[in-house]
Amino acid sequence: MNLRCDLHSHSTVSDGTLTPTELVVRAHDNGVEMFALTDHDTTEGLHEAAQAAEKVGLPFVPGIELSVTWSHQTIHIVGLGINRDDVALNQGLKGLREFREERGAKIAHKLEKAGFVDALEGAKKYSNGEILSRTHFAQYIVEQGKAKDVRQVFKRYLVNGKPGYVAGQWASLEEALAWIHGAGGIAVIAHPARYKISATRLRQLISEFKELGGLGFEAISGSHSPDEEQRMTQLANQFELFISKGSDFHSPDSIYRELGAMQDIQAGSIPLWHSNAWKEKIGEVK
Ligand code: AMP
Ligand code: MN
Ligand code: MN
Ligand code: MN
Repeated sequence: MNLRCDLHSHSTVSDGTLTPTELVVRAHDNGVEMFALTDHDTTEGLHEAAQAAEKVGLPFVPGIELSVTWSHQTIHIVGLGINRDDVALNQGLKGLREFREERGAKIAHKLEKAGFVDALEGAKKYSNGEILSRTHFAQYIVEQGKAKDVRQVFKRYLVNGKPGYVAGQWASLEEALAWIHGAGGIAVIAHPARYKISATRLRQLISEFKELGGLGFEAISGSHSPDEEQRMTQLANQFELFISKGSDFHSPDSIYRELGAMQDIQAGSIPLWHSNAWKEKIGEVK
């Protein structure tokens, strides 16, 4: 029931600070028994992670975290058990990465108006060229001494209403689920308590997600408080969604939890890895 798994994490391929291999080794050292790499909008790290996992004997689930615009709001959908070479998925991801480049140029332009110099080059120093994230702009701004940490940069510069904010134009929910399902994966609503939407709209999101064949709900997230985990677990149960669990680990010194360091799933809820879909698509878990 309470397998020590971690089904949400980021490497240097997106906005994390450890390589796929370093992440796998760290997860294994932490006693994680099943691990997924879910970089933002790219499958680039999955081959390396799979190889590293095989080497240390850690069951590995290839994953992705897709950026979605739903009802003018950015939502993240995790895909688990995807075929990393799927053509339609990779075509879709390419479009998302192109939007990241366009958005990056706009963010840089806005930050320059707010007094920063060479913000695009500055942010690109922190990305390895695969995806350009707001996290990379935040790292540059910290380097410039304009904020004490990444969290403060988001608050001051990068969120809606602040000088460096540019609205997302990501995939639709329908596209995201079609890409994940087409690549043989299972879709999960990532960190549901993090969205700044009303309870009614969250329910609406869940209904649409279910209609599109979505199965998982990441009630247990490294970015949720215990109270949020409780509420999100209840919501998952009401909607008969399976519960997923992931740290959303980005870096050893981030604000979220350590790899594998999550609460147990409560009795009465069903973990995603006990679903028939998981058994069929990913395999039997003890
Ligand atoms: P992007 O997908 O480029 O818009 O960047 C989103 C990423 O920024 C998330 O995946 C987090 O890693 C990070 N992020 C978002 N909000 C914050 C915050 N308030 N503090 C620190 N990191 C954040
Ligand atoms: Mn991130
Ligand atoms: Mn996310
Ligand atoms: Mn994430």
